[in-house]
Amino acid sequence: MKIAILSRNPNLYSTRRLVEAGNQRKHEMMVVDHTKCDLIIEKRKPVIIYKGKMLDRVDAVIPRIGASVTFYGTAVVRQFEMMKVFTAIESQALLRSREKLRSLQILSRAGLGLPKTVFTNYSRNAKEIVQAAGGAPVVVKLLEGTQGLGVVLAETDNAAESVIDAFNGLKVRVIVQEFIEEAKGADIRAFVVDGVVVGAMKRQAKQGEFRSNLHRGGTAEVIELTEEEENAALKAARVMGLGICGVDMLKSNYGPLILEVNSSPGLEGIEKATGKNIAKNIIRYVERHV
Ligand code: ADP
Ligand code: GLU
Repeated sequence: MKIAILSRNPNLYSTRRLVEAGNQRKHEMMVVDHTKCDLIIEKRKPVIIYKGKMLDRVDAVIPRIGASVTFYGTAVVRQFEMMKVFTAIESQALLRSREKLRSLQILSRAGLGLPKTVFTNYSRNAKEIVQAAGGAPVVVKLLEGTQGLGVVLAETDNAAESVIDAFNGLKVRVIVQEFIEEAKGADIRAFVVDGVVVGAMKRQAKQGEFRSNLHRGGTAEVIELTEEEENAALKAARVMGLGICGVDMLKSNYGPLILEVNSSPGLEGIEKATGKNIAKNIIRYVERHV
């Protein structure tokens, strides 16, 4: 098969591993920078031009679209779909996953556990918002943040109100969430491929930090999920319509609470923590569907 990884950087760990795993399974692998694809749209003849040539005879694509290029990346994935090329992540699901609020609404409708979350249209009544989230301590998050940047823990009602007022004054959208203290600075990442959890790790924040992101200095170790956690991760992947995703959860007194479902989950942390060949799982998934 000819499989294209949609990635802006062939040197990234995840991209390299997918190429390697595909080659090992005798596929012809190529890395296509989606931001450099031109799309030609006319009646029933979708075409993609890349580096001056028509991109045809591709059997499948594996999108690795960064959050900052979601709009164009999704358009490229959609064009492949129109060309009847199998995509490991559908354009609609990709787009949906990038809307934090809509994603939380979808997960909530499916009956999944979530930290109680409040969102308002720049409401001036910060006090009410903080109380609606259960009162301090609360977590205030930029709607558009990633890698733990723009996630603030406000330990008192006053601090929370000031932070909310400041963001609202700048017309920056935020969500306000109950702080899950019993998670103790750890979260769980379940890596789901084609309806199966292929690896799971616990990420622990460094001392004095509540954000467990690896980019924020967190450390990862392999864990065994409880049945409840596994079911929650699989259901989250299903309702989000994602064939590949990383489901981030907090352990709470009320069972697993989903924080986010990531549609371009990194391979480095999970492969190193679990010692598993996750890239191969992804290639096998593509093989089953083409
Ligand atoms: P990002 O998408 O930027 O990574 P997250 O919402 O995943 O933002 O938050 C980053 C980290 O902060 C999480 O991995 C988790 O460790 C911690 N965290 C986020 N929300 C909460 C919360 N409501 N209660 C406790 N810890 C939280
Ligand atoms: N992009 C990385 C991932 O999805 C983020 C790692 C992190 O900082 O938590 O695994």
